[in-house]
Amino acid sequence: MIYLDHSATTPLAPEVFEKMKPWLTQEFGNATSIYAAGQRARNAIESARRTVAKILFCKPEEIIFTSGGTESDNLALRGVLRTNTDGHAVISKIEHHAILRTAEDLAKDGFSFTKIGVDKSGKFKTEQIEKALQPNTKLVSIMLANNEIGVIEPVREIGKMLQKKHPDILLHTDAVQAGGILNIDVQHLKVDLLSLSGHKFYGPKGIGILFVRNGVKLRPTQTGGTQEHKRRAGTENVAVIVGFAEALKIANMRREKESARLKKLRDYFIRRVLTEIPQSQLNGHAIDRLPGNTHFSFYGIEGESILLRLDLAGIAASSGSACTSGSLDPSHVLTALKLNHKWLHSSIRFTLGRSTKKRDINRTVIEMKKIVNDLRSISPLM
Ligand code: PLP
Repeated sequence: MIYLDHSATTPLAPEVFEKMKPWLTQEFGNATSIYAAGQRARNAIESARRTVAKILFCKPEEIIFTSGGTESDNLALRGVLRTNTDGHAVISKIEHHAILRTAEDLAKDGFSFTKIGVDKSGKFKTEQIEKALQPNTKLVSIMLANNEIGVIEPVREIGKMLQKKHPDILLHTDAVQAGGILNIDVQHLKVDLLSLSGHKFYGPKGIGILFVRNGVKLRPTQTGGTQEHKRRAGTENVAVIVGFAEALKIANMRREKESARLKKLRDYFIRRVLTEIPQSQLNGHAIDRLPGNTHFSFYGIEGESILLRLDLAGIAASSGSACTSGSLDPSHVLTALKLNHKWLHSSIRFTLGRSTKKRDINRTVIEMKKIVNDLRSISPLM
């Protein structure tokens, strides 16, 4: 299989699995127990927390381990807003459903939201956020990189603006797609909260973090034990916590070299597709995009049909985000780009990663030329 769906998930790196193994086999102590086995588990968790904090340029106590990106996003929105009985937040139209649906749910309880749009390239501007602020705005939550079109958003600019003009408004960023790929420095980004998920950078699934700056008031979304400084109850899953930290460490070490390699490969792929397949277009910003992300539309044919044909050819890709594929509605991200409807249903995302070689891209281009030709020959739109 040629795997070109690294934004959906990545395989667990063997080195990461090695680090996790003892915690899945002989070491089973509960990290809250006071005897030696419990303390070994506690030490492993705290060491993982220090590793993560060092990479993100924050303090260890500012890291909360969660069950993944979805929980981190939920905890950020619900946790901040529910410290009061009402309040307003600003989000964007292209957020992941973990933010959008959480906002919809909170809206039923009286919290209000303003959703800002994006330009044709998928970017939003600091001025839009500024305009959307209200006297009771408590939080701005905008993503660092989009999961469908890979666009990198100006989070630092927004952080700078808030710090200068509205220091009481908190800034959260969903950095799930950027984790292990972009340099994530919470001080540089000027964010108060930040979500990451382990399975996007060759770590295990079911583990994420929420960075919460010291001093930020957060109401827990689940109650029970006193774990994670009383901010996230539940017995810690030591193996995946250890795996998360190791995966982030490795990704961070390789980041610069791997990003440069992927960018080159990505741009080669984009150039070939746009020049060799007529009536094709790239969606999302050409430069401000994740190093491994490509997202195309092919006029006159269905993205889902392309996917099935690619699958038969042994190539795994996606027709949008993994969470929205399976639905035939156009994705909310492409809708926000205001793509003409003739391009809306014909899109496909290829996301490159560690295993991707130039020969995989060459094979994919050959297959895509065949598939697009075949499907167009039977399309009523052509
Ligand atoms: N946020 C973004 C931008 C994502 O891409 C994803 C997963 O695709 C999530 C949140 C959810 O993360 P998880 O799969 O860890 O729940």
